[in-house]
This record gives sequence, C-alpha cells and structure tokens, in this order.
Amino acid sequence: MATVSLQDVRKVYRGGVAAVKGVTLDIADGEFVSLVGPSGCGKSTTLNLIAGLEELSGGELRIDGQLVNDLSPRERDIAMVFQSYALYPHLDVAGNLAFPLKVAGMDAKDVEARVREVSGVLGLEALLARRPKELSGGQRQRVALGRALVRRPKVFLFDEPLSNLDAALRTQMRGEIKKLHEQLKATFIYVTHDQAEAMTLSDRVVVMSQGEVQQVAPPRELYDAPANLFVAGFFGSPRINLVKPQTLGLPDGDAVLGLRPEHLQVGQGARPEDAREGRVYLVEPMGAEVWVTVEMGGERLVARAPGDFRAASGDTVWLRHDARYLRRFDARTGRAA
Ligand code: ADP
Repeated sequence: MATVSLQDVRKVYRGGVAAVKGVTLDIADGEFVSLVGPSGCGKSTTLNLIAGLEELSGGELRIDGQLVNDLSPRERDIAMVFQSYALYPHLDVAGNLAFPLKVAGMDAKDVEARVREVSGVLGLEALLARRPKELSGGQRQRVALGRALVRRPKVFLFDEPLSNLDAALRTQMRGEIKKLHEQLKATFIYVTHDQAEAMTLSDRVVVMSQGEVQQVAPPRELYDAPANLFVAGFFGSPRINLVKPQTLGLPDGDAVLGLRPEHLQVGQGARPEDAREGRVYLVEPMGAEVWVTVEMGGERLVARAPGDFRAASGDTVWLRHDARYLRRFDARTGRAA
C-alpha cells in the first residue's frame, strides 16, 4: 500500500514539447484516482513519469514518502496495465500469470498458490490451460490484470485499459475493475479519455488540459461545481448548456451561464409564467428519457424529458430552468464566478 505524491512535476520532451507543465497532486493510500482529459493533454506522460518509463524534467515524485525520481520502474514496486494486453502467446493463462513471479525468482510452490489466488479473484480458474488466442477480448484483459495482480505491487497504474473492448464489455470490465479496487484496497491511478469511466470509478478525478491540471475533485463535485468552462463541458452527457444570460431572460453581464439538461424542464401547452417559449430543433429518444434540443433566443439548449415526452421538430414548447442549479462563469477567463 502506498501514497503517491507529485510536486510541480514537469516533462518537456526532446524537441521542446511541454507535455506536463507542473502537476502537483497528493494521492492517498488506497485511493482510486483517474487522470482524464482530451487526447494529447498529458495523461499518459504523467502516468509514465509515475511508472518510471519517462524521466522527469522537473519537480519531485514520491512513493510512500520516498523520493523516486531516479529509481528504475522495477525499484518503484508498481504494476502497469495497458490497453494492449501484451500476453505471451506461447504460454497458457497459468503460465502468463506465473511469468512475473518466476522472473522474480519465487519458488514453484508459492507461484502456484499466488496464481490460484489471483485466478480466483478474477474468475479465471476455468481458463488456466488456455492460450491467449483461445480467449475473448474481455478474458485477455482479465489475464493482463491478473499478471499485474500476482506481484502484489504497492500501486497499480492503468493506461486506457478498456479502450480496445466493445461498448458492452467495457461497461462490464469497468464494474470489475471497481470491485477489484474495493477488494484489494490498493492505490489505483487510472488514465482515460472517457468521462463516464472517470466518473464511475474514481474517488477523485484529475481533469487535465494542455499539460495542466484544471481541477481535482470527487466526481459529484466536478459535476455540480466545475471550476471552469473546460471542466463544465467535459463532464455530462448530453453536455451542459452554456448560454448568454439574456437567453434565460436574465440581465446581461460578462458571464456565461451553465445549466445541465436535467435542470431544464420542457413542456407543451399552457406556458407557466416563469417559462420561456422556444421551438424544437431535434428530438432524440433514449429509452428512459428523451433529449430535446430547443432553439430559444438564438441559442440551442438541450433538456432531458421523461421517456414518454412527445414532440417533433418545429413544435412550439416552453422551457423552465431551475435557478438553484445555474452556474455562472466569467466570459473572459472561463472561471467559475
Ligand atoms: P494523452 O495521454 O493525454 O493523450 P500524452 O501524454 O500522450 O497525452 O501526450 C502529451 C503531449 O506530449 C502531446 O502533445 C504528445 O504529442 C506529446 N508526446 C507524447 N509522447 C511524446 C514523445 N515520446 N516525444 C515527443 N512528444 C511526445
């Protein structure tokens, strides 16, 4: 078990690309932290710096209080799970699981016990004699996880481990990773570009953009109180509505207002006094709910309506917002007011 601490960590690649521009972050023992952000924002570089696969250009990195800037990956006692499974094709599942332990010189009896334990945790018992090519994508990913688990490292690092899987399997494996974290109570650091993965898995989420941390907070807080327009726009599906104050009938100012689609009520027929009229632009039935895009005051807003809401493009509707949930951002800096 371990804490991981980054103090003003920087990475400038040869050729001058500043990929990580001073990240400071304290990860608690047993915490599940995700690094999330669009492609190229520096997530993988940050993870590789923690792993020791890249050298720091500046700052300090500590694991369990010990400065590890100059330690090799092996000396850091961490395990990394990548999106590509990298299993040995000529070894069966048991062989793949045993491999890291044999390399470390563990004796055969202990290796067998570890492999049994880990295959139990991951539900791989029935597959131990199979080769990787005889496994499904999800099973292969589970073996790759198992290979990280057998060593019982202090810290687990994940780099987009699910991005090669189809949507249904992704959701299932996401649940399995979360349960695994609950069982192991180890420190997990998880890189993803997928906001839903970061939200559902993490104790805290680190939102990055262009090599800098935008906000570090538990998922609920990120969603309810985004620090700036970037974070507001990154989380939530459908996206948060970002509109001028006058669109909602409020006094103008140098502000952008943020309003989640679930805090916008859409209706047809008699318009309540505090509602404003608009025209339906698009209707997207999702099953349990309907996403309704409405044009109003020259802007488009999305509302979440109940699944049985009936409307068609071009219909006149009204929109009513819940003022308690309005978020105000400075139009110039993008920061939450
Ligand atoms: P992410 O994981 O968020 O997609 P990366 O950490 O992979 O982002 O990349 C951050 C930035 O650093 C990008 O601009 C990328 O092009 C650049 N980069 C990544 N790896 C290297 C490298 N080995 N050499 C030079 N530039 C790199």
